[in-house]
Amino acid sequence: MKRTDAPLAFAITSKGDDTSNALAQKMKTYLLDFDLRCDEEEPDLVISVGGDGTLLYAFHRYCHRLDKTAFVGVHTGHLGFYADWVPEELEKLVIAIAKTPYQVVEYPLLEVTIRYLNGGSEAKYLALNECTVKCVSGTLVMDVEIRGDLFERFRGDGLCISTPTGSTAYNKALGGAILHPSLEAIQVTEMASINNRVFRTIGSPLVLPAHHTCLLKPVNHVDFQITIDHLSLLHKDVKSIQCRVADEKVRFARFRPFPFWRRVRDSFIAD
Ligand code: NAP
Repeated sequence: MKRTDAPLAFAITSKGDDTSNALAQKMKTYLLDFDLRCDEEEPDLVISVGGDGTLLYAFHRYCHRLDKTAFVGVHTGHLGFYADWVPEELEKLVIAIAKTPYQVVEYPLLEVTIRYLNGGSEAKYLALNECTVKCVSGTLVMDVEIRGDLFERFRGDGLCISTPTGSTAYNKALGGAILHPSLEAIQVTEMASINNRVFRTIGSPLVLPAHHTCLLKPVNHVDFQITIDHLSLLHKDVKSIQCRVADEKVRFARFRPFPFWRRVRDSFIAD
């Protein structure tokens, strides 16, 4: 439960289109009328107005203070997994933020550590949805180690390592399972693996628990196109890519129950 004597500090991120901007402005005015404080640098609550993509941006903007900031999403398009309030509920949400203590739910994140050949440097990232690894040109060839043991030599278009909340995004398009976000796990899915009499991969998505690390080791190429959520970067001279469940968690402000499986049904099945 969040509520102290100090007025709640909020920040609003907008998708940037006219509808989202107008909604964000209206919300800001209402929240200020309730004597809440707007603080773009150190918000207790970040309200994302747009879609799931907008919440991904907001997450990375405030990634350095995940233990102090909670997120809530209003969608201005179709129902999202992270953005589950509709514009018609704006007043209801504002009152809920201003008047009621809110519950915080925590979901697992993916930690990605990229180590480089030159000088032993490394870069660490947190992903809310997933990390994908592809070759700049040609087939991706990677040794996949799980918990220190060689599992397989992967050949194909790429690999996707996702969080439970990211399992409904790219992972789902790759035939991965939808994981309930209460599971502390990551999922490894293949992109068009080569499978014939010579080359063999498992062919099924793998779900790894929090204490199992997945290490990807390049075999022939060392330059890779790596995505962390919406962020895509070319990484050169890569020695290894380590993926595991992060110690950090993302915190969402919950003002009403919205069960995960109902959200899945509403997004993918219901008319
Ligand atoms: P984008 O190409 O503009 O949007 C990709 C779509 O994924 C949007 O419809 C977005 O919803 C949706 N999405 C994002 N996170 C989701 C989640 N956790 N569950 C269900 N749907 C989700 O790219 P972007 O806005 O920068 O977002 C980057 C994300 O796109 C990546 O993290 C990846 O998961 C996803 N992606 C998916 C595919 C695929 O399905 N084949 C391919 C590449 C990337 P909104 O419209 O509400 O924003």
